[in-house]
Amino acid sequence: MIYQANPARYDTMEYRRCGHSGLKLPAVSLGLWHNFGDNAHFDNGRNLIRHAFDHGITHFDLANNYGPPPGSAEAHFGRILKEDLLPYRDELIISSKAGYTMWKGPYGDWGSKKYLVASLNQSLQRMGLDYVDIFYHHRPYPDTPLEETMAALDLIVRQGKALYVGLSNYPAERARQAFEILQKLGTPCLIHQPKYSLFERWVETDLLDTLAQNGVGSIAFSPLAGGVLTDRYLAGIPQDSRAASDSKFLTSEQLTDETLGKVRKLNALAETRGQKLSQMALAWVLRGDKVTSVLIGASKTSQIDDAIGMVANRHFSEKELADIEEILV
Ligand code: NDP
Repeated sequence: MIYQANPARYDTMEYRRCGHSGLKLPAVSLGLWHNFGDNAHFDNGRNLIRHAFDHGITHFDLANNYGPPPGSAEAHFGRILKEDLLPYRDELIISSKAGYTMWKGPYGDWGSKKYLVASLNQSLQRMGLDYVDIFYHHRPYPDTPLEETMAALDLIVRQGKALYVGLSNYPAERARQAFEILQKLGTPCLIHQPKYSLFERWVETDLLDTLAQNGVGSIAFSPLAGGVLTDRYLAGIPQDSRAASDSKFLTSEQLTDETLGKVRKLNALAETRGQKLSQMALAWVLRGDKVTSVLIGASKTSQIDDAIGMVANRHFSEKELADIEEILV
């Protein structure tokens, strides 16, 4: 049956201006790092994308290497676009990235102009797109001059293959230097994509201030710490969870008594707010307006519903914030 998007899709989502740009992103964005590779069920992925878009999630985040195998998430997303979402292309913000190992030889990794341009061409082909909305350099690399990597991003925009550019995983000072180069080239950096959650707070030292000073937005990846900052692991490790899978990014060893003790306390605090822990964890990342969007992953549509439900209760009292700090020490 031909997919028809929910007419009420824009009724509840909040859209937030990305830095000093004219672009607004949904408070919740969906990433395709897990659950969209050849190892996942295509129909489930398709349901997740449809469900997200039907509820106002307009931004889908990909990268050349998402899978497994690398490239397969983009290929599956391309099929979902073709079958369902291409009529809505102008309502979508689609991102991709290059920066991690993608193919053999000296041109399939890191930060050269050769790699970035070739990789984006491949991504566009896999997704069946003429352009992505945002193209990121996925990780900093000291052995390529920053000028070259930024010139590659600028070139890609001038070629019409991306509308905006972003950086991911760059520390504050390297990011600041990159912003300066991009500004001079006439392609200002739209966004930075760092890891940020209740359990991962490196951005608070100086990155978020650097972004604010430079008018650059931010999208926080893994805001639920891969699912740890939810009720997923409170009664053991479910068979269908990331920690039970062969993903090396979340293993059962990481679910220590200390970590789960904090999760239990945070869960109790979330209950007093009338929220699920996952919702409190996302709202907390968005507090203070320094972060534009939270970039979640999902294996079930109910998880997307949880994330969207957060938008209705984003406020924290001083006491709640202090209680959270006490739990986290
Ligand atoms: P999250 O921290 O949001 O973890 C997502 C996982 O948490 C889900 O797959 C699910 O796991 C579990 N989960 C989500 N919601 C709930 C809920 N309500 N209740 C219980 N469990 C829940 O993010 P990810 O680590 O998946 O990363 C999100 C995106 O960030 C990626 O897809 C990618 O786009 C981006 N990213 C970027 C990186 C970069 O270097 N730039 C690196 C990593 C990610 P389960 O499978 O167990 O159900």
